[in-house]
Amino acid sequence: MTDRRRFLKASLLGASASMLAWGGKLAAGPIDQSGKLAAGPAPRTPPTTTARVISTWDFGIAANQAAWAILGKGGHALDAVETGVQVPESDLKNHSVGRAGYPDRDGHVSLDASIMDADGNCGAVAAIEHIAHPISVARRVMERTPHVLLVGEGALQFALEQGFKKEELLTPESEKAWHEWQKTAKYQPSINSEVHDYGKGKTGMPGGAHNHDTIGMLAIDAQGRLAGACTTSGMAWKMRGRVGDSPIIGAGLYVDGEIGGATSTGVGEEVIRNAGSFLVVELMRQGRSPQEACKEAVMRIVRRRPEASKTLQVGFLAMNRAGEVGAYAIQRGFSYAVCDAKKQDGLIPAQSVYTTNYS
Ligand code: ASP
Repeated sequence: MTDRRRFLKASLLGASASMLAWGGKLAAGPIDQSGKLAAGPAPRTPPTTTARVISTWDFGIAANQAAWAILGKGGHALDAVETGVQVPESDLKNHSVGRAGYPDRDGHVSLDASIMDADGNCGAVAAIEHIAHPISVARRVMERTPHVLLVGEGALQFALEQGFKKEELLTPESEKAWHEWQKTAKYQPSINSEVHDYGKGKTGMPGGAHNHDTIGMLAIDAQGRLAGACTTSGMAWKMRGRVGDSPIIGAGLYVDGEIGGATSTGVGEEVIRNAGSFLVVELMRQGRSPQEACKEAVMRIVRRRPEASKTLQVGFLAMNRAGEVGAYAIQRGFSYAVCDAKKQDGLIPAQSVYTTNYS
């Protein structure tokens, strides 16, 4: 048991003991007269024991395969998602995740990541610099600190204390794209589309069509345990100190072992405003399929900001504890990768509100 769980158990026991001492009549409430927590509503879907891993975007294919190397052998979903998302974090051609991510407007590569298991254990780092695998620092935050989120200098200090190596993450290619961007210095998130052209300049923007993207990964293992991970360099050319949705539990990532998990990609500010991934999981709790839940979460964003939403992308990806998968996006072009015992490299285009990109 982790220190955090021991602490939580102790405080729950303490809370129920003091309830009894108080003598409150809570038989119909969350704590019954024996001092035990009453069970919540029964989950609607039976759990699966068919392992499966899903990830955002085409770079999710390789990430899923690394996760599958663990899941396929009966390994833990939490180990699978951490190992899986390390693949795009290491990929020097990927300019929206990990090492080689495009920098902020002042030239600093700053990364966001979070990880969560089925029991509500979670950890995250935001605006961390010089560490190539922020997802692994997020896991250490979860397992070795009493906290959930460490940011900036403090996150770096913790990572170094934990033995992570301090590195220069700005690659020559990213630096070149940054200098190119400085000529106009216009902050304009692109509408990300299906195939990553890795800087070929599809939209004429420095760095090509993609100046933001995230790998969000959800896995269920052979014992029916769920876990999720999410990691990104966020929006290219962002303001220094800007933090997106990915390290915010409930925004970029949320997992509840009774129901399922959800993760997001796209303009993080819109996801944070709507507590996106938490919303998707809560909609599944109310009986919606993962697909219906992702669609409704997207529609909340569109209904709140109908005009603005025409020119930005947000996509949600979800899996319930039965292993059913769903996704939905504002714009055409969001895709997700699915990997299980039957299929290792499936890439599926998500449905969307708009069928033409407004870029
Ligand atoms: N959600 C990420 C952020 O806002 C970027 C993306 O996934 O496109 O930082």
